[in-house]
Amino acid sequence: MQTYHTKEAGTYQHNLYPDERGRFGPFGGKFVPESLMTALSELEAAYLDASNDPGFQLELQAQLSTFVGRPTALHYVPRFSQMVAPNIKVYLKREDLAHTGAHKINNALGQGLLARRMGKKRIIAETGAGQHGVATATVCAMLGLECIVYMGEIDIQRQSLNVFRMKLLGAEVRSVGSGSRTLKDAINEAIRDWVTNVETTFYLIGSAVGPHPYPRIVRNFQAIIGEEARKQVLAQEGRMPDMVVACVGGGSNAIGMFYPFAGVLDVQLLGVEAGGTSLEAGQHAATLVAGRPGILHGAMSYLLQNGDGQVLDTHSISAGLDYPSVGPEHSYMKETGRATYVSANDATALRGLQALSQSEGIIPALEPAHALGYLLEMGNRREIPEGSLIIVNLSGRGDKDMLTVAQALNVTL
Ligand SMILES: *Cc1c(COP(=O)(O)O)cnc(C)c1O
Repeated sequence: MQTYHTKEAGTYQHNLYPDERGRFGPFGGKFVPESLMTALSELEAAYLDASNDPGFQLELQAQLSTFVGRPTALHYVPRFSQMVAPNIKVYLKREDLAHTGAHKINNALGQGLLARRMGKKRIIAETGAGQHGVATATVCAMLGLECIVYMGEIDIQRQSLNVFRMKLLGAEVRSVGSGSRTLKDAINEAIRDWVTNVETTFYLIGSAVGPHPYPRIVRNFQAIIGEEARKQVLAQEGRMPDMVVACVGGGSNAIGMFYPFAGVLDVQLLGVEAGGTSLEAGQHAATLVAGRPGILHGAMSYLLQNGDGQVLDTHSISAGLDYPSVGPEHSYMKETGRATYVSANDATALRGLQALSQSEGIIPALEPAHALGYLLEMGNRREIPEGSLIIVNLSGRGDKDMLTVAQALNVTL
């Protein structure tokens, strides 16, 4: 793994985490049934072995280049910059140009190659909106691996196009009818499958969440985003940015962008969560802004929960941000103050999407539109100094969201 130039900031030394117990300060860890502890240790050993194997790195690099289409561009958007504030520069990291239209493929590819190396031919995954299911099915088809995707019954109805994509790619989609019939029930079902079939099966987790070592593995496979952006901004502007901004669902695109910049303390890190329709319980997915620490899906992290510790329902106009917890490393970055987390509501995200589309000819996904919309709000509040250099992680393209956007704008198609 790469080491980054790190300045000490009090007790904060970013590249020390996670520790050997998989903790980021008090967050993270492995809160799983006994029967999975061996599987997690085996995964950790295989990952470390692969990280140190030049052959594995070479194959990963080759596939990132010709299959995924990396490096993705760092693109200056002058007309959008002008809409935010006078005399500033906004650059977009174009993950929307990666194969399948979002950053999720970086991680799916890395874990897919790891599974094959471990001799596991059966891949399971779970998906809410279907984006991670599509990325996983895509990689499994390319590598010739069996792919089973768990998905809540309600999500299957809402996301029929992605269900069809996964099937075309050769994956089996298993409907989950328990609980709220959405993502968190699909995750429970995937964990159950893993416990039963752990010998033959690799659980391909789609964000920087879950028990150790997943948050670390996903971060490191997504860190290619920030590594490229660092080199590109130095080449194009000759200096580090003042701020990097990313949307936060589970937190994988954000941590992939933040991590390579985290040791450069002059770079402000801003994560934007989904503020939904309001910050009342059940109407948003702003976990770090409005949650409290708790345990879900194998890790200690911020969590949206009621007074009894029951997980709350979430809402967001963007299905990809609709998750009641968040990666443990973000919880730690919030606690240490290294990164700042805010929320943008549905309407702000829609404005961000429209603004970028009309000023720059790029239709973003609704998830990164939260980051774009929040920047516009900061500009209105005169919070962005002249001369600022800002990078926004454009985590995906908007094609998948066109029906949702039309509905929100009261347009009938
Ligand atoms: C899934 C998704 C997200 C949210 O997931 P993170 O793990 O927080 O990155 C953000 N943007 C897009 C385009 C997505 O598909």
